[in-house]
Amino acid sequence: MTVSLTDSTSSTSTTQKPVRAIGLLSGGLDSMLAHALIRSQGIEVRAINFYTGLCIVETQRRLGRRRRDGSIPANEALGAAANLEMDMEFIDISGPDYLHLITHPRYGYGANANPCVDCRIFMFQKAKALMEEWGASFVFTGEVLGQRPKSQRRDTLRIVERDSGLTGRLVRPLSAKLLEPTIPEIEGLLDRERLLGFSGRTRGPQMALAREMGLTEFPQPAGGCCFLTDESFGRRFHDLMARRPERNLAEEEVLLLAMGRHFRLGDSKLIVARNELESGALKRFEPGRHTIEAIGVNGPVALAEGTPDEGTRCRMSAIVARYGQGRTHATVTIEWRAPDGSSERHEVTPEREEAAIEALRI
Ligand code: SF4
Repeated sequence: MTVSLTDSTSSTSTTQKPVRAIGLLSGGLDSMLAHALIRSQGIEVRAINFYTGLCIVETQRRLGRRRRDGSIPANEALGAAANLEMDMEFIDISGPDYLHLITHPRYGYGANANPCVDCRIFMFQKAKALMEEWGASFVFTGEVLGQRPKSQRRDTLRIVERDSGLTGRLVRPLSAKLLEPTIPEIEGLLDRERLLGFSGRTRGPQMALAREMGLTEFPQPAGGCCFLTDESFGRRFHDLMARRPERNLAEEEVLLLAMGRHFRLGDSKLIVARNELESGALKRFEPGRHTIEAIGVNGPVALAEGTPDEGTRCRMSAIVARYGQGRTHATVTIEWRAPDGSSERHEVTPEREEAAIEALRI
């Protein structure tokens, strides 16, 4: 089969209304290929990208972080849309409903804090509303059967389709030939013969198709762009939820989980910035928390949550001292500012025992 980005053998005549579809464009190669395939059938596509507030690259951009080479991290979905020469809309789904989904997933978590099945259902419900509003016939994604252990199993794909209300109208063009025909295929709006039968984790067929289509720029698969799939974020998330029977989570806490080094000392938690950018960012979260900083030497800003007792405050001060320029000094003065505005100072020996630190790390 030969397809190209500009091939637009239309499934409609000029007098008919164009066939329309909503495409989910994550920015990865699979979603790019899915868009190219559907557009190659002359279908009018509205590409959307859901902003969850948990995209690693987007958060780094917003925090002003740079790559090792000094460049600003690029938004992958925007780059993909530019390569496909099409417009793309961001749809912000961050907020209380999404946070509730993360903390109360009906279908549970993947390997870390990622409730991918529930998340997909939530996104597809939004996509369905757009489909109906825009008069589109179906929604499509770049999902590949069997590519991910839980969220892309055959039974899970069906659950997502059913629970989002898109039964028969959710097309996976890259794996369509291995799945039941959808309504647009049955109605002849979409030519099943020109869809594909990819499955599994191998990337070879996708790479070959990308070459055939002239798609040369696409991000390498690197474990996704979502904090919820990140191992250390997942540990911190589950540590927090284990201490909250009500499982509530504020938006600012999500950002905090993504920043700094985290340590658990009893009921209290210490968050130490890893660089100047994070020190600046952590200052935004001071209200309601203890702020900890070295006096007389440069060092990171740190925050403490909970009500640490005297011994815990000393221990935390020693950890904070370890990450500043006073780490080799015999003692460092650390200042604590409590949420009520009171302050105190601790003279501590910087913690130098790697194993002791690691035992507290979340
Ligand atoms: S990786 Fe993140 S954004 Fe993607 S489906 Fe899973 S939870 Fe949702």
